[in-house]
Amino acid sequence: MTMHRTVQVNVDAMLEDLRTLVEVESPSRDLDALAVSAKAVAAVIEGRLGGRASVVESAAGPHVHWSGGGEPRVLFLGHHDTVFPLGTLERRPFRVEDGHATGPGVFDMLGGLVQAVHGLAALEDRSGVEILVTADEEVGSHGSRALIEERALACGAVLVFEGAADGGALKTGRKGCGTFEVRITGRASHAGLEPEAGINALVEAAHQVLDIAALARPEVGTTVTPTVASAGTLDNVVPAEAVVVVDVRVESAAEKERVEAAFAGLTPHLPGAVVTVRGGVGRPPMPESASDGLFALARRLLPGIEGRAVGGGSDGNFTAALGVPTLDGLGAVGGGAHADHEYLVVSSMAERAALVAGLVEAIRDGS
Ligand SMILES: [Zn+2]
Repeated sequence: MTMHRTVQVNVDAMLEDLRTLVEVESPSRDLDALAVSAKAVAAVIEGRLGGRASVVESAAGPHVHWSGGGEPRVLFLGHHDTVFPLGTLERRPFRVEDGHATGPGVFDMLGGLVQAVHGLAALEDRSGVEILVTADEEVGSHGSRALIEERALACGAVLVFEGAADGGALKTGRKGCGTFEVRITGRASHAGLEPEAGINALVEAAHQVLDIAALARPEVGTTVTPTVASAGTLDNVVPAEAVVVVDVRVESAAEKERVEAAFAGLTPHLPGAVVTVRGGVGRPPMPESASDGLFALARRLLPGIEGRAVGGGSDGNFTAALGVPTLDGLGAVGGGAHADHEYLVVSSMAERAALVAGLVEAIRDGS
């Protein structure tokens, strides 16, 4: 692929910033680590773009916000938390080898942040651009959603710097996703002496798991997957409690409602058992219509780049659900998100940064 227009970016400088960010470990929910990480992100932004990056405190850790001034036209959206616990860096230090950069968070999504900042730095005029880097994307964005939505509505267009889909494709649609926790309460009794006096929460859970799995409708993109279960205490006690955790993905608002209603309507099979449900589809689906316009711009800049609808959710789901044009997967080209084999393809960094610069100009031109 070749860009219609090239901008000057320095890959060595990008790798230097990537190293800085990777070497500050930033697991979600670790407020001390996230505070250090937010400062590092702010320093990289200020160092390359000038101005002031403000650190916005939240219960989930500090977010970083920067504005290029002028009327806001486009929001760069990313996160600085990672799924990797402290100590991962020691096992898997930042490295550049055989054309791949590796280390915790290179692909999801520190590489994307670096490309975004350097792409924008290549433009003399940075007005109209805001950058928001949140602290809790990997754990549901409860401490950042309101701010994300506010800035997305103010800007009117959102570029999300999550890692690219396979082969560098942009993410043009995302399923809505959520987690349900189904808790079954029965009654304990001696499994040998009087099992009939108990209400077996584990047997009830087995019925519920089958009912829940039957809610899936893969033909319309809905998956309902029981993922974690626990029950019981001792081998001679009828279990009084069981818990089933379920991962849900949907492609449409109608399916979100259907599945949520079905969970609310789960009823016990055993007399006396009680079923309680918590959770919901927290991230609404990001329909492909939300990315149509921005994806067309990207294709003009980088003919041949593909777009793909994917199952995983991101903060782009929130902004797309508000009706704000949103394009995702603009970040690193690579793979292995959330895994030890996570990597970023160094040779793609300059092109992705140039794509960012081109998109900013195109959006500001209103073309
Ligand atoms: Zn991510």
